[in-house]
Amino acid sequence: MQLRTAAIHAAAGGLTERLTIHRRTIHRRPELGFAEHATADYIESVLDDLSVAHRRVLGTGVVAVLRGQATRCVGVRADMDALPVPEAPGRDGYRSEFEGVSHACGHDGHVAVLLGLAELLASVDDLPVTVALYFQPAEEGPGGGQPMVAAGVLDDPRPEAVLALHVASAHPSGTVAIRTGPSSGSNDTVTITVHGVGGHAAHPDTAVDPVPIAAQLITAIQQLVTREVDPVQPVVVTFGSIHGGHRDNVIASSVTLSGTIRALHQHNRELLNRRIPELAHAIAAAHRATVTVDLECGYPVGVNDPALTEVVAGAAAAVLGADRVVRVSEPSLGSEDFYAFGETGLPVTMFQLGVADPARGITAPHHSPAFDLDEAALPAGVAVLAETIRRLAAAG
Ligand SMILES: [Zn+2]
Ligand SMILES: [Zn+2]
Repeated sequence: MQLRTAAIHAAAGGLTERLTIHRRTIHRRPELGFAEHATADYIESVLDDLSVAHRRVLGTGVVAVLRGQATRCVGVRADMDALPVPEAPGRDGYRSEFEGVSHACGHDGHVAVLLGLAELLASVDDLPVTVALYFQPAEEGPGGGQPMVAAGVLDDPRPEAVLALHVASAHPSGTVAIRTGPSSGSNDTVTITVHGVGGHAAHPDTAVDPVPIAAQLITAIQQLVTREVDPVQPVVVTFGSIHGGHRDNVIASSVTLSGTIRALHQHNRELLNRRIPELAHAIAAAHRATVTVDLECGYPVGVNDPALTEVVAGAAAAVLGADRVVRVSEPSLGSEDFYAFGETGLPVTMFQLGVADPARGITAPHHSPAFDLDEAALPAGVAVLAETIRRLAAAG
């Protein structure tokens, strides 16, 4: 086939059955981060059938390259891991076979779309650009994007842009939701241990009680959020865990808090990562205690390159119809390790592919045991990616 808009639309539509098979095959055998062995084997077997060259990285990651007429290259990434979430009953014929593990975020759909894109592009006569497909492990944790970049997947061939999509149960099946600029939050983890001196609950003067110090620390950090950060720039600090002490009449010797720090702007991320340890040390010192603070940097701020995002928006309108493309007005402080590809300075963008079908009860949120997706939406994902690649090639 020729890489033309109408041909892309038709070819993607013709892949519906294959995409469903890919998705269900992967859905039945969900695998956690860096353990996606069967998933990687399946990806390779499909690529072999298509005679598409591929290589393994990081054990379970796969990079496929379709060589084009030009050395210019466009990259497309799909994450491939599942979650430790038990699947809700139902799903005749494609139920997870692994107890307690399921594709509750829809990454099975992402792999299916990328395999469908490989099939579509492999049938193109004189592909105008080289296309690299990154099947990435461990998005749900501990993160495979940054290790994949560190393993050199962007070095040869060197893409000029990297695209990705995420299925979205918040949007109607077959629609596309797009946002330009800062779109998803950075995600760093802080663990603070307040070290006091344990003792008898009735004699606090003989102890250093870490519990009220921990309480002050939590409120002081929330004050930091509202008093030191520009109020029109969103940040979140959530302490999801606090542990200390064993019983009512004993003063604990330590309390440990752990939380997530999220920001939509790198300067706010740096501010919080500097000020939270400062506050923790100062508040502990004021009350005769000490702290240890462990800060673990996670996923970067997610920024959709404006020019690249407009190419995707135009492509989506061309293959799906303008009425099926919506703009997302607000960013999210959810995080996404795809943006590790953008941390290198490359323009990147991720769009959402709607997969909700209320008529069939497919509306559950991501990460819920009831999450599912309407497979009829998957060809739209292939079409938008292929048309975006066509437009990027034509623009060069
Ligand atoms: Zn997820
Ligand atoms: Zn996800």
